[in-house]
Amino acid sequence: MNTPHTSGQISIGEFTIDRILDMVGVPFSLNDMLPGVTEEDVCELSGSLAPGRESVQPSELLLDFGGYLVRGAGLTMLVDAGIGIGKRRLERPAWNKRTSTAFIENLESAGSSVEDIEVVVSTHLHADHLGWNTVLVDGEWVPTFPRARYLLPGSEVQEVMARPEDDRAGHYGSFADSVAPLFTAGVGHRIASDTELVPGITMIAMPGHTSGTSVVKIESNGQIGVICGDIIHHEFQLVHPEWTPRFCADGDRARAVRRQLLEDLADTGGYLFPAHFPPSQVDRLGPVFAQRRHDPARDAGLNRTP
Ligand SMILES: [Zn+2]
Repeated sequence: MNTPHTSGQISIGEFTIDRILDMVGVPFSLNDMLPGVTEEDVCELSGSLAPGRESVQPSELLLDFGGYLVRGAGLTMLVDAGIGIGKRRLERPAWNKRTSTAFIENLESAGSSVEDIEVVVSTHLHADHLGWNTVLVDGEWVPTFPRARYLLPGSEVQEVMARPEDDRAGHYGSFADSVAPLFTAGVGHRIASDTELVPGITMIAMPGHTSGTSVVKIESNGQIGVICGDIIHHEFQLVHPEWTPRFCADGDRARAVRRQLLEDLADTGGYLFPAHFPPSQVDRLGPVFAQRRHDPARDAGLNRTP
């Protein structure tokens, strides 16, 4: 498993978007990821994957983890924050007590330091999107980005806060160590869906994967990009938008918003910026979809490994 120290950059009008990787190519059980999908299905579709995205075993799929750095209109913003460092995630050994600082190094390679980040957005409250929100300093979880306001899906925060105090650990403990400390520090903000963050960047509610899942839509100079969190987890769901992970809270809704997003992007030539595989434009292939392939130099930039 290797983590690139560089990431490709894509422009959407006046904004630039860099993929900031924390972990690359982590195997996940096919049965958890896409229940009902067979190993034969995986073998059949694997030829369509970009180099490095094929799993060794057809019983597994590879997921990347990280976030996106968005810069433009005077704003430096991070959308989602990977697995993090030192987080106790006993149920997910690959995420447990990590020591890697690749995420911060990749941020710096893209040209931004932790001090530069002004806004951190979480698409939803799952552990693999919140990790770098906080770091452990003198035994306390504190905000990683000292100048940032952290914008969190209000309805999901509300759901956890409504539980009894001893039941607020959240997904694998991530609310306790990666969200609650932001409110303690006074930098956590619950935001309503469909909020314009700056002109050209809007949070849009697309519940299904979780009850408060929101995407970040970037529109500038006639171009569109959507940082979509876990609306889609794997390239295979472009060909089969109906395939839905076991960990989507409302499978039917997740299916519907996935298809809606893919149709919108295919119709507008927009960019899909997913959480767990590389970004691309989306083409329509009859009733389904495909990643648009770009020139080799640009592809190399998007998938570069050391
Ligand atoms: Zn995720």
